[in-house]
Parts: sequence; C-alpha cells; structure tokens
Amino acid sequence: MKVMKFGGTSVGKPERMHEVGRLITRDEEPTIVILSALSGTTNTLVAIGDAMSKNDKETAKQKIDELYAHYQQFLKDLLKQEATYNKAKAIIDEHFEFLNIILKISFNEALNKDILAQGELMSTKMFSAYLEEAGIDHALLPALEFMRIDAYDEPQVPVISEKLKALIEEHKGKKLFITQGYICRNARGEVDNLKRGGSDYSASLIAAAIKASVCEIWTDIDGMHNNDPRVVKKTVPIEQLSFDEAAELAYFGAKILHPASIWPAQMYNVPVKLLNTMQPEAKGTTIMAEAGSVGVKAVAAKDGIIAIKIKSSRMLLAYGFLRKIFEVFEKYRTPIDMITTSEVAVSLTIDSNTYLKEIVKELEPFGTIEVDANHTIVSVVGNEIVKTTDMLQRLFEALSPIPVRMVSYGGSKHNVSILVPSDYKTETLQLLNKGVFGLE
Ligand code: ADP
Ligand code: ASP
Ligand code: MG
Repeated sequence: MKVMKFGGTSVGKPERMHEVGRLITRDEEPTIVILSALSGTTNTLVAIGDAMSKNDKETAKQKIDELYAHYQQFLKDLLKQEATYNKAKAIIDEHFEFLNIILKISFNEALNKDILAQGELMSTKMFSAYLEEAGIDHALLPALEFMRIDAYDEPQVPVISEKLKALIEEHKGKKLFITQGYICRNARGEVDNLKRGGSDYSASLIAAAIKASVCEIWTDIDGMHNNDPRVVKKTVPIEQLSFDEAAELAYFGAKILHPASIWPAQMYNVPVKLLNTMQPEAKGTTIMAEAGSVGVKAVAAKDGIIAIKIKSSRMLLAYGFLRKIFEVFEKYRTPIDMITTSEVAVSLTIDSNTYLKEIVKELEPFGTIEVDANHTIVSVVGNEIVKTTDMLQRLFEALSPIPVRMVSYGGSKHNVSILVPSDYKTETLQLLNKGVFGLE
C-alpha cells in the first residue's frame, strides 16, 4: 500500500483536483490519499479564529461569507452532474452552517481547533464527490477516528496504526482511501491539529502506521531545492537526500516539509518522495536511508529565533552548570536549537517565546542574561560535509559581510548552522547560493 499526499495548491483549483484524480489512479497499488485544505483556506480559518478571539464578529462573518462564495464557485466548476453537485453542496452548506453558529457562541481554544479543521474536512468531501462523479471507487476515512496525539502533542503511531488498520478492514475490497491531513484528536478527545503545514506529518505518520511502500508528497515544486526558491532566484532540485539530511532541512526551515515530518517515515524505513503535481513526470527528490552522494546539498533558514546568553565567570567551568541550565528549558518544554560555549558564557537559541519570561527569570541566578530576538538560523546541510575540504573556507568567505552571531559545527556530520540577525537572512541565503553552490 502506498501513501500520496496532496498539498493546498495541488487541490486549490477544480482542475487541479481533476488532475489529482488522474494521478491517484495511475497504478494498481492500493493507496491512501491525504489531502490538505484548498490553498488559502487555513489562512482564512486562522483569521476567522483570530477575529472571534477578539470578539470581532463582523470581520469573522465577512471572512466566512467570502469563503462561502469561493466554495460555491469551486463546487460549480468541480462537479458537472446534478446529483453529485447537490449532495456536495448540502455537505459544504453544513460546514458553513457550523461556522455561522460559532459566531453566536462563546469562543474558546477548543472551538478554534474545530474551526481550523473545517478546511481539510471540506476538501476531502468535495474530492470524494468528484471521485464519485468520475466513477472512481474509493472510501473516505475520517482522520478524526484514527489520528491521535498524546497529552504532550506527540502523535501515537501504535494507536494510529491499530485504528487505521481496523478502519481499512471495514472496507474490504476497496483499493483507494481518502483522508484528511493536519487534523487529529488530542488526549482529551477534542479536535486538534498537527500545526501549520501538518498534512506532511499526517502523511508520514500514516505511511509509518501502515508500513507503506512509499510516502509521496505532491506539491507545487519539483522536489527539495538547494535553497529557498522564495528568497533566491536560481535554485536546483536535489535528486536524493538521506532521512537525516531531509530531517535537518525540514527542521531548519525548508517549508516544503513540515519540521517533524521525517521521523515517522525514517523510523519505519518508508522512502519519501517529493513530487510536483504541476509536472508529474519530473524526478523530484527521493528521501531514504542512503544519502546518495557526499558533500553540501542545501541550505535552509528558520526565522523567529531568540538567542539567550548566560554569562557567568564563577560557574561555567563547574560541572553540573550546563545540566542546571538545561533543566530550566526542560521544565518549560522548550527545545534548544543551537548551543555554543566559551569559558565565561554559554549562548543558546530557542524558537518560541511562550515561556521566555519564566525561563529568563529562572536563569538569572546563574549569571547575567542577554536576550536577542529576531534572529534566523541558516543551516547548511549535506552528507559528511565535514569531509568537504574547502567547505568551511567557502562558507566563511561567502559570509564575510554578515554579522554572524553564533556558529555550530560538528554537532552532526550533516550540518553547519549559523545564527544571523533576521534582517540579514536574504543576503545570507543569496551569498551562500553563490559562494557554496556556485549559483547566481
Ligand atoms: P503544500 O501546500 O503542497 O504543502 P508548501 O507551500 O507547504 O506546499 O511547500 C512548498 C513550497 O515550499 C514551495 O512552493 C516553495 O516555495 C517552498 N520552499 C521553501 N524552501 C524550499 C526548498 N528548499 N525546496 C523546495 N521548496 C521550498
Ligand atoms: N491546511 C494546513 C495548513 O495550511 C495543513 C497543510 O496544508 O499541511 O497549514
Ligand atoms: Mg506544506
């Protein structure tokens, strides 16, 4: 069985959905298809939730109405038979009734999660209606019945596996299954989600849960490129990446993959392919255990980084000092991305300010604390990059105009990370494209 995930742009227009219908029926292998919401929908749902949280019902209502108009037109262009159109329209109308009802009740975070879930619920139901119209036999599997996260928001692969397999069993003889990306239930049984871009994560979790032959991520670009194509003009696709390399790129900001989306596939050794819906014959990127080649492969950038420096001439050399510092971050469940030390200070970075105040307060007894927000981690990722002899030379030559705040090298064989003020991100990516990859 294989997994095929289609992102927002891949289902964002009726003709694209028709194309997805073609792509998922190209071979005979039983398939689970995971869909995102139509492009733009989750952003609008976030905006509706934001407006509701501020009790700005007028804005929320206006956005709901605009979204409704969009879906009405979409249905008309997607479906050509009266029976399927009427059925799908009734279903979509119900979802919008729900959105209109929430305008009348008091807002809370659990309700917000329900709002955010509407996008994937609607896209899959519309797609199912289209498949029905096209005579393509399939079953719609509700992700809310099998996708589970625990009290720490961690997906539970064994539970997902058991529930999903039982659902598939209920549809004996079917070869094609459609389900929602992104959405899940949490430990309290409420509707929740895997965070923005989470459909990739759903795909990898589902691929792990059923030990799929392959997890195909279909998007709007022909694979992982060597640099961020939104920032740098000339970028090229990478044919093969190891799981470790892809995980580093995803974690350090390559938007094509959700930051956590590699580990489930890696754990169950399912190859991941990044493919282009708009150009289905393009090779794309294959992600598997082997890296394929040695050397630098790509750079990625992660914004919203906060650097924290703890300066203490008294304590740094004492053993146990770092443990005490790490315990503070552990207490507030805040992961550290980068760390560098000197004799008198330690600098580290975090990507969330949720508990920043509390963390700083608890660190204060250890020394002088400096906090620098608005930084970006730029990661250079590759296989055995330490063995590329002139790599560091090229890297630092390229970066000479940039005020680099931190450097992390040697933590893994796949990564060199530097921390720069976010204002310098674009220039850093462009300089590296030229200096490290020879691309202008
Ligand atoms: P989807 O909606 O299919 O999930 P996303 O927008 O989440 O698609 O991810 C695809 C986008 O990721 C591309 O259009 C591209 O702009 C962006 N991107 C950022 N970095 C990279 C990279 N290194 N390689 C390829 N795409 C990247
Ligand atoms: N629809 C969700 C989002 O826009 C999940 C996804 O597309 O992966 O974040
Ligand atoms: Mg995405």
